Amino acid sequence: MRAEIIAVGTELLLGQTVNTNATYLSQGLAELGVDVYFQTVVGDNASRIRQAIELARTRADLILFTGGLGPTMDDLTKDALADYLNRSIEIHQPSMDKIEALFSSRGIHMVESNRRQAHLIEGSDPLMNDAGLAVGNALTVDGTSYVLLPGPPREMKPMFDGPAKAWIRSVMGEERKLFSRLLMFAGIGESSLEQAIIDLIEGQSDPSIAPYAKEGEVAIRISTKALNEQEAETRLKTAEDQILARVGTHLYAREDIPLEEAVIRQLRATGRSLASAESLTGGLFAQLVTQVPGSSGEFVGGVVTYTNLMKHKLLSIPMSQLEGTDAPGAISESTAALMAERVRELAGSDFGVSLTGVAGPAESEGKPVGLVYFGLSERGKPTQVFTAHLSGSRGIIRLRAAKSLLYRLWQ
Ligand code: ATP
Ligand code: MG
Repeated sequence: MRAEIIAVGTELLLGQTVNTNATYLSQGLAELGVDVYFQTVVGDNASRIRQAIELARTRADLILFTGGLGPTMDDLTKDALADYLNRSIEIHQPSMDKIEALFSSRGIHMVESNRRQAHLIEGSDPLMNDAGLAVGNALTVDGTSYVLLPGPPREMKPMFDGPAKAWIRSVMGEERKLFSRLLMFAGIGESSLEQAIIDLIEGQSDPSIAPYAKEGEVAIRISTKALNEQEAETRLKTAEDQILARVGTHLYAREDIPLEEAVIRQLRATGRSLASAESLTGGLFAQLVTQVPGSSGEFVGGVVTYTNLMKHKLLSIPMSQLEGTDAPGAISESTAALMAERVRELAGSDFGVSLTGVAGPAESEGKPVGLVYFGLSERGKPTQVFTAHLSGSRGIIRLRAAKSLLYRLWQ
């Protein structure tokens, strides 16, 4: 099935609004196995909307509109399509009741134009709008399917994900649909991962195997076009087994979650808690961990001890450890170990972790940019220290440092 997305709105042409709806719809359609061949943007103008429909009609089986379903005179999508199809406009009574109820509950007078949001093109299926008033429309005429969605993303997304996708699936019928599976890896770079499975990637077109890098993690999507779930399952499983036989030790999730979420879930499952002491990452580790909803159950807290004085004052690390000609220095294995131990004691947590190193751009303590020490102190066990030589800009080194530590914790 070939699709075209038509985003309607003069604000899009003026560059005032970014066409995020097209991106969202393209992603969603790809997941359904629908090939999007064109994305069009047209202003709030009846004759140009008509031209866009005429053209799309020649090159797509499914045309999705977003925008222009509202009450005002510049909202023309339904009228333009009805006109093109020679269909009349009807009222969708449940939507009309909803609009009237809303106005009367607010004690506001309803103007005639508000009724437009309950409009249905003759013969179309209504797509309910749980986040707004304008009802969506879906219909098939002469082999072309049309789906009309509202412009505001907070209304468009739930309508597309719910009723519109179900409707599209139903018109796809017996067509082969796309099924996919996501594998998430950490502790290995995108190119190393790709190298390890390059023959699998190149050797087959279905299932297709596509790695892509996220922030500090690498995802592999395995996709297959199949008639049903069972058929897909067998193929996906075979490809997954082949991949995991090579790089399975780096797999941390089978769904799209960041590494920090996998770590928090693992701590939760084992009932253990974590605290952090950070230097070069300036709180980035704590920031990542606390982005995970509900992480307060596992993450007790963290300190940012950026200077030697703060390492000394907050973590009681002796100044003689940090400064002086024979001192190991702030960027050292022994300081990383002490930071992890002290913050664990301070927090009373099961794990204490630390990060100290050189984010750049210049070297520090005579140590090179990218050198990072991670401390990992676990209650009742000897403290471990890991070393990494990271590359990249200052921002990348900081992110990679935080992610590397998360990977150590996850292991
Ligand atoms: P309304 O009832 O709000 O008028 P509508 O369906 O008529 O809804 P538009 O008038 O086209 O939609 O757009 C309303 C708002 O939705 C725009 O101001 C814009 O912020 C947002 N919007 C519209 N189209 C898009 C798009 N393609 N991508 C992202 N945002 C959009
Ligand atoms: Mg509008």
